[in-house]
Amino acid sequence: MTDLERELTTLCTTCGVCCNGVMFAYVEVAPDELRPETRRRLQVLDGEKRFTLPCRGHALEGCQVYEDRPHIC
Ligand code: SF4
Repeated sequence: MTDLERELTTLCTTCGVCCNGVMFAYVEVAPDELRPETRRRLQVLDGEKRFTLPCRGHALEGCQVYEDRPHIC
């Protein structure tokens, strides 16, 4: 990973503007995305293809489900 990529990744995981509902109202999720525990945490309801923001996976430390976040994130 380059220094720029590392810097952008750090910014992405800490800023939270994409996750707090200021810029977007929801996040789309494909049916085969996310582990069941992540779907529950983000409140992706059965049969739903998206969850609303602010995201329940976001905290002051950044995305708490970063390793299993939706592709669009
Ligand atoms: S899953 Fe992570 S990156 Fe996606 S909206 Fe929630 S906190 Fe943000």
